[in-house]
Amino acid sequence: MPKNAVVVGGGIGGLAAAIALRRIGWTATVLERAPELGELGAGMSQSPNALRALAELGVADQARAVGVPFHGVFNLRTPSGGHIARALPGTASPLLGFHRADLHRVLMDALPAGWVRAGAQVTAVRQGADEATVSCGAEEWAADLVVAADGVRSTVRHLLWPEAPGPRFWGNTVWRGVARAEGVDAGMTLGRGRYFLTMPVGRGRVYWALGAHADRSGVRYEDELAEVRRRVHRWHDPIERLLDATPPEAVLHHDITDLDPLDGYVRGRVVLLGDAAHAMHPDMAQGAAQSLEDAVVLAAALAEAGDVPEALARYDERRRPRTQAIVEQARAKGLASTSGNAVGYQLRTLAVRMVPSSRWPTLAARALAPVWDWRPPRLPR
Ligand SMILES: Cc1cc2nc3c(=O)[nH]c(=O)nc-3n(C[C@H](O)[C@H](O)[C@H](O)COP(=O)(O)OP(=O)(O)OC[C@H]3O[C@@H](n4cnc5c(N)ncnc54)[C@H](O)[C@@H]3O)c2cc1C
Repeated sequence: MPKNAVVVGGGIGGLAAAIALRRIGWTATVLERAPELGELGAGMSQSPNALRALAELGVADQARAVGVPFHGVFNLRTPSGGHIARALPGTASPLLGFHRADLHRVLMDALPAGWVRAGAQVTAVRQGADEATVSCGAEEWAADLVVAADGVRSTVRHLLWPEAPGPRFWGNTVWRGVARAEGVDAGMTLGRGRYFLTMPVGRGRVYWALGAHADRSGVRYEDELAEVRRRVHRWHDPIERLLDATPPEAVLHHDITDLDPLDGYVRGRVVLLGDAAHAMHPDMAQGAAQSLEDAVVLAAALAEAGDVPEALARYDERRRPRTQAIVEQARAKGLASTSGNAVGYQLRTLAVRMVPSSRWPTLAARALAPVWDWRPPRLPR
């Protein structure tokens, strides 16, 4: 009998975990509380480490087919439109931009029919000696392993790590949208206390995001798109054009929270993965990337260890230091990117200007090497 897992959450992390488990001969059932499967209407980038994890999951070609290469990290502008760094023609970018729904679909398509159940909200978890059981309405699911990939507000973490503090708000909020537009480059405009990001995500769509400082969480506006417009009033083209082409009802507004370091990602036969374990600020573009890494490392540990507890101990040991260091880096970067401090802003833009644009690809690759250079363990074929 193959071993079996229940995966709580059908986001990018949960689906990746199910694919990884399948590759090592396990079966898995993914329980997703949303009535329909899918991802938010927004974009994301994936870096070389994530692309290697996708390759190990066997979906590299499918992901590349829907991803768009871009140079966003090197196109930096001020609100009036002046370039402080420019992506030079011919410079290669190791990043791919995705519409989230496209990447989610690639992962869904890699799973056998019937492995993912929508409308299934997990409300309780019970540990046994050789298995763990989750409850979902009147149904119960027992498994050799429960993978909790249920996001930053994880129910499973709340139930099994009751002492752990919840998600923490540090003062960042972000609006996101997708507009139909042609000829828009990837890039970032740095304002004081806010930034505006653009990223082509294929088929004539451009993802944009406005990140800003917020004194408190939970502040919402009757017309979120109007609020975005107000905050980037008179910023350079194509910002207004993108906002004009964005359906107001499709604008997403989220406060950013992250997790303080947990002292372990494993309790018995339950393991945390993705945002449930290490939610982070988006400023390193590593949240989903790290969940892909988690999935591959978890499956590799299960394939090589003698039993499930030993495998989970290895997963914890391999994933915790790396992911928690990235949470910290992302937080520092996130807070700097929305700092309203005038001197800090001038110094930051000055520092960028002093570096010739031709050097950005090398410098970025060097600075991000500890994150981007990660190599996945090989999963047995
Ligand atoms: C503005 C922004 C930009 C970002 N940009 C990037 C980027 O460029 N690159 C990148 O790699 N990452 C990025 N991220 C981070 C990325 O979105 C997350 O890290 C990633 O989506 C986490 O995936 P996950 O599967 O762990 O969690 P989620 O995507 O949150 O999925 C959790 C799933 O579990 C389900 N669920 C929750 N509770 C239950 C329950 N009790 N029972 C059943 N199901 C349940 C939820 O409905 C959800 O579908 C960004 C995040 C933000 C906010």
